[in-house]
Amino acid sequence: MGSTVVVAMDGPSGSGKSSTSREVASRLGLRYLDTGAQFRALTAAVLDAGTDLQDPGAIAAAAATPRVESGTDPSAPTITVDGVDVAERIRTQEVTDHVSAVAAVPQVRQRLLDLQREIIGTGGIVVEGRDIGSVVAPDADVKLYLTADPAARAQRRTAENGAGDVDATRADLLRRDAVDSGRTTAPAVAPDGAVHLDTTSYTLDEVVEQVVALVRRATDQTGRTTGAGSAS
Ligand code: C5P
Repeated sequence: MGSTVVVAMDGPSGSGKSSTSREVASRLGLRYLDTGAQFRALTAAVLDAGTDLQDPGAIAAAAATPRVESGTDPSAPTITVDGVDVAERIRTQEVTDHVSAVAAVPQVRQRLLDLQREIIGTGGIVVEGRDIGSVVAPDADVKLYLTADPAARAQRRTAENGAGDVDATRADLLRRDAVDSGRTTAPAVAPDGAVHLDTTSYTLDEVVEQVVALVRRATDQTGRTTGAGSAS
C-alpha cells in the first residue's frame, strides 16, 4: 500500500472546521488531529505554572517541557498534558482568553510543529488548525480553508459551549482572529492552493459531502489511499 492522504483544514473558530474534520475523518477511516487543542493544552500548562503572560521568554520556558499527547481517533479524540486529561480544562474561558498570546511565541510553535509532523507521519489524517496548509503540511494532498460570517460563527461557538452571550462570543472570536492573523510566526492565513468554502449557509452534512468528494477526487488522481480503516 502506498502512502496515505493528508487533509489540511484551516480556518477561524466557528467556521465549522472541527465538526467537519472529525466527520470527514470518520467517514474516510482517517485519523484526526486538532492542533488548536494542542495550543490550548500548552496554554493550560503555562497558566498552571503561574507564568507572566506579558513575557514571551517566560512563556517559552514554561512551555518547553510539558508533554502534550493527542489521541487521534475522530470518534473520541483525547488530549493530555503530562498524562493528565485536559479535555475540559482547555475549553475554559481562561484558556480561550490566553491561547492566542501563547500561540504567538515562536518556541511554542516550533515545539508543537515538531509534534504535529511526528503525528502526521506518513499520513492517513485530517489535520485542523490555522497554519496547516501553509506551514505544518504544505504538501498536503487536499487543502481547505473554511470561513463563515462572524454572526454564524458566534452562534455556532455559543451553541457548542452550551451557553453564553452571542455578542461577547463574537467579540472574542474577532479579537482572536486579529491576534492570530497578525502574529509574525506562522500567522493564520488562507494557504496557497486551498479550496475556500464559505459554510455560512450550508449544513454540516453538506460541507462534509463536499470535502469528502474533494478528498476522493484527489486520492483518485494521486493514487493515494485514504486510510488503513483503523484510527488510533
Ligand atoms: O481552533 P481553536 O479555536 O481551538 O484554536 C485555539 C487557538 O490556538 C487559536 O486562536 C490560535 O491562537 C491557536 N492555533 C494556532 N495554530 C493552529 C491552531 C490553533 O495558532 N494551527
